[in-house]
Amino acid sequence: MAREQKRAIVIGGGITGLAAAYRLKREAKNRDISLEITLLEASDRVGGVIHTEHRDGFIIEHGPDAFISTKPWAKALCEELGIADKLIGTNPKVRRSFVLRKGKLLPVPEGFYMMAPGAFGPFLKSPIFSWRGKFRIALDLFISRRSDIDDESVADFVRRRLGTEAFERIAQPMIGGIYTSDAENLSLKATFPRFLEMEREHGSIIKALLVQKRKATQTSRGTSGARYSLFLSFADGMQTLVDTLAEKLAGCIRLCSYVNGIEKKEDEGGWRVCLDDGEMLETDLICIALPAPQTSRILTNVSPPLAKKLAAIPYTSSATVNIAFRQVDIQHPLNGMGFVVPITEQLNLIGCSFSSVKFENRAPTKYVLLRAFVGGNTFEGNANRNTTQIDLESLALKDVSNLLGIKDRPLFSIVSQHSQAMAQYLVGHQKLVSEIGELVKDLPSFALAGNAYHGIGIPDCIHSGERAALTLLDTI
Ligand SMILES: Cc1cc2nc3c(=O)[nH]c(=O)nc-3n(C[C@H](O)[C@H](O)[C@H](O)COP(=O)(O)OP(=O)(O)OC[C@H]3O[C@@H](n4cnc5c(N)ncnc54)[C@H](O)[C@@H]3O)c2cc1C
Repeated sequence: MAREQKRAIVIGGGITGLAAAYRLKREAKNRDISLEITLLEASDRVGGVIHTEHRDGFIIEHGPDAFISTKPWAKALCEELGIADKLIGTNPKVRRSFVLRKGKLLPVPEGFYMMAPGAFGPFLKSPIFSWRGKFRIALDLFISRRSDIDDESVADFVRRRLGTEAFERIAQPMIGGIYTSDAENLSLKATFPRFLEMEREHGSIIKALLVQKRKATQTSRGTSGARYSLFLSFADGMQTLVDTLAEKLAGCIRLCSYVNGIEKKEDEGGWRVCLDDGEMLETDLICIALPAPQTSRILTNVSPPLAKKLAAIPYTSSATVNIAFRQVDIQHPLNGMGFVVPITEQLNLIGCSFSSVKFENRAPTKYVLLRAFVGGNTFEGNANRNTTQIDLESLALKDVSNLLGIKDRPLFSIVSQHSQAMAQYLVGHQKLVSEIGELVKDLPSFALAGNAYHGIGIPDCIHSGERAALTLLDTI
């Protein structure tokens, strides 16, 4: 007897939607389910914010330039796709980064992790902190654990345990660089639960980092070292992952297909998907893999309470400015991965990666590729004033040139604006996400995935897409 064919639609062709569609395809085959999958993408390309461009021997990342290997889902997917051999780690010779302090780039002390030292020697010698600030940081060893379990902001946590200097001079720029957001409002539970665990388990962040370092040394003894570097990219850029998934999904992807809304088919079950050209598609299973504001708009008529909760997850905009120089035109030795800029320095930049130092092959010999990052509040302020690409380029160029002692004009620079692409996990985010989860349960054969819920990084988005796919298949 012929198996009944089912249909699945995934809305959004960023990494989340691609991972969801791929997992639907693979797992349907494993479960012997006949499934027709369609991935609907509004633009004329898949990948969303992941986008690599090759120009004159440079490999330019418009969006993300790497993913973290300690969260397993991205590297597991690369292994499954057969592209793990194309992964590259960061340059092992330059592990350090810089932080801007009073207009000077100072190295982050060796062993320092986001907010606290994991080694005393380099920390005590570092000019980033005053002696008073160092003393306050060390008090973390003696300050007792917080007893209540309410969420708190990252800023409150760092100030409580390690003091204002640790927050303003290093934690804020590091965390701001990752989340493009204001650490005063960022939920610790949703963004850095590991620090909360450290406090609970060891009563001190410094103690926890020292224990972690000792364990890592013991584990690495007698082994040939970690298989993967902490941050990974691909020899040809992040696009490798997107292109491989797109190849595996050949025949399933529909580009230039903007989804306006969806409707529940009350009588027969299943869903209708409405495209902006008036076309209606029918499906049994549906996964929305979009940023929360777009998801909220699509769900306005289906579930107003769910749409309202999704709209409560704010997003910010950011821009990357890739700039190519001749090496001889840069005075700074570029002996690190890049730098971050505290808000207190009042610049337009929030950071800059030395891309061609961080990863091999990003620029031809004798040339350098830098990737400046403008984002969060500064960017929103600028965006409100209708910032053009030229404005962003000159803002980034001015700061980067001043800080790195660059006298000459660049060979080229490329501005990439990412409007409302970064979810902000505010204090109470996890509670909001669990309420969203409860409302989703009321919608049959329906799943949400993306960077709005359980992590903004690429591994989290892949995990979210894969989980949504498995949940949908379980409903058949
Ligand atoms: C500048 C920048 C740098 C980053 N750097 C890193 C990094 O180095 N490492 C890391 O791990 N993470 C990084 N992130 C975070 C990570 O890249 C993103 O969270 C992740 O890629 C989001 O993927 P997504 O598929 O959920 O969303 P998106 O990439 O936003 O994709 C959503 C897709 O849906 C489409 N779409 C929108 N509306 C509709 C509609 N109505 N109908 C149909 N299609 C629609 C869009 O065109 C888009 O293709 C970065 C993010 C940004 C913005």
